[in-house]
Amino acid sequence: NPVLRLSGITKGYNTGKPNEVKVLGGIDLTIGRGEVVALVAPSGAGKSTLLHIAGLLDTPDAGTVEIDGTDLTGQRDAIRTSVRRNDVGFIYQFHHLLPEFSAAENIILPQLANGVARGAAQERAMALLTQVGVAARAAHRPAELSGGEQQRVAFCRALANGPKLLLADEPTGNLDPATSETVFAALMALVRSTGLSALIATHNLELAARMDRQIRLDKGVLVPV
Ligand code: ADP
Ligand code: ADP
Repeated sequence: NPVLRLSGITKGYNTGKPNEVKVLGGIDLTIGRGEVVALVAPSGAGKSTLLHIAGLLDTPDAGTVEIDGTDLTGQRDAIRTSVRRNDVGFIYQFHHLLPEFSAAENIILPQLANGVARGAAQERAMALLTQVGVAARAAHRPAELSGGEQQRVAFCRALANGPKLLLADEPTGNLDPATSETVFAALMALVRSTGLSALIATHNLELAARMDRQIRLDKGVLVPV
């Protein structure tokens, strides 16, 4: 089974005006196990909409979303939420870490919520932080970390519960070029070491070229690069 299969996805927003906003006009996309795909799109092209639909945060007007062979399109909210929590990891341009908790706690908490024992959760958090080179900062709160460190902690949190699919929306979009390089390298190493499949939206064509495959979202459809 592919980890993600989108078939015939369409989406528009009804704004109350006569012409609704058509964003996605029939998206077909398959991501295989361990495959890392770059999603390149001009701003406003519908990149966030596509990632939200793939991650079960939003529903399409038509089409199906399969994750690991299961069609989740018409499933109950409880099932979609469970798949989203267990099988999908999200990364955004901004870290969205909980400010009152340490870096380690930010990675431990989602595991506790998933029924993992504290000791095991703590061990996993430290292993992840070590992999991205931020272990020395485990006890620090997000505000005490640099932008690049914050983002690397956010990657660890996204992977805390061992997802099958990683969805990233401009993960280095808020960083200067040098930090962006370090952070992207850390993300790719982490993804490769876990064999995770990923769809990573980026404006950075140089980073996109380093992924397995690139697709471009243009006027609501995907075109090969
Ligand atoms: P991107 O992430 O590529 O910048 P989005 O998916 O956020 O694009 O948005 C695509 C288009 O859909 C834009 O024209 C945006 O204004 C419109 N849009 C997004 N969300 C809504 C919404 N909730 N209501 C109306 N229009 C929306
Ligand atoms: P960058 O140059 O990557 O933006 P900064 O200059 O913000 O990094 O920080 C450099 C180092 O100092 C980082 O390792 C960061 O974790 C640490 N640091 C920054 N601000 C604080 C703070 N308020 N408390 C503790 N450590 C901090």
